[in-house]
Amino acid sequence: NRQVRLAARPVGEVKPGDWEHCDGPVEEPGPGRFAGRTRVISLDPAMRGWLDDRPSYLPPVAIGEVMRAGSVIEVTASRHPGFQPGDHVVGTFGVQEYVVSDGRGAMKIDTALAPPSTYLGALGMPGMTAYFGLLDVGALKEGETVVVSGAAGAVGTIAGQIAKVKGCEVVGIAGGPEKCAMLTEELGFDAAIDYRAEDVRKALRRHAPDGIDVYFDNVGGDILDAALTRLAMHARVVVCGAISQYNNATPVKGPSNYLSLLVRRARMEGFVVFDYAERYAQAARDISAWIGAGRVKVREHVVRGGVDDFPGTLQMLFRGENTGKLVLELV
Ligand code: NDP
Repeated sequence: NRQVRLAARPVGEVKPGDWEHCDGPVEEPGPGRFAGRTRVISLDPAMRGWLDDRPSYLPPVAIGEVMRAGSVIEVTASRHPGFQPGDHVVGTFGVQEYVVSDGRGAMKIDTALAPPSTYLGALGMPGMTAYFGLLDVGALKEGETVVVSGAAGAVGTIAGQIAKVKGCEVVGIAGGPEKCAMLTEELGFDAAIDYRAEDVRKALRRHAPDGIDVYFDNVGGDILDAALTRLAMHARVVVCGAISQYNNATPVKGPSNYLSLLVRRARMEGFVVFDYAERYAQAARDISAWIGAGRVKVREHVVRGGVDDFPGTLQMLFRGENTGKLVLELV
């Protein structure tokens, strides 16, 4: 049972030596438990935060512990009434080839409706994050101007498309011309800003001339600063994440111009998707329906390999090497 465990707390960027690759036991499931083989592992920016020993919404991954990760497994043996061999199950099963679970936090999925990877993306945590971040925290209204950063990623692609479904004017911010072209030509965004090539402030002035009503922030840093200069009255700034800051060895850079919140009577609010767990089913029904109707397109970036490829694949997120939801499919 190949596993990736945390060997050391990273300082700044995660280094290969921060991980330990090892062979763990393959256990038979006891009463009330089932065993399964990992099919697809989710890669999430939040994983960087889980490696730091500081207070957060989840305890840090312990040194020596199998790395925490969402994944889809296929059940191979079961002594649990709710799970049968052949079932596909999504849960937080960690970076390992074989899993034994008591079913807590695990959910059976229907692979006839969508492939396993989609239950880690549009129909999983990133999709839920886009949905509740935009509709609940962002309190989005029809006709508003919405700006999404990290727009070509797992959360961003869904957030922007939901905003289009809701009748908004949507501007995405992403790195590189290919990602920007995908946003406008394939996903229906009204405009896209390549933050690596353009001055984001100037581009926002052009694409959001009447100001931003909802800024859905996945990246923080300078792009957050730029968006804050363009807020409309009563704007909502949704603090979903700040990937530009996750590898900092120095303190997080906060917004320098937060007083625009005062001037614009705006609100800036963070959220953690897990707080919406009771409403996931409704969100998944809505997103599935939009996918079915062709109003939301799913973009996934599938890396095929082994559990040992996890550390290298994780780094892709921080280099912008993924388009859409990044997953590691075990072959
Ligand atoms: P993505 O699929 O968006 O992948 C990360 C992307 O971030 C990269 O592709 C890259 O795109 C961009 N990026 C990387 N470094 C930088 C940088 N320095 N500056 C600007 N952009 C950068 O990941 P997810 O969709 O899974 O996550 C997006 C955000 O949502 C993260 O901040 C994550 O922590 C947050 N999140 C929050 C949750 C919550 O409950 N609050 C739950 C889930 C996710 P590019 O090429 O465009 O630079």
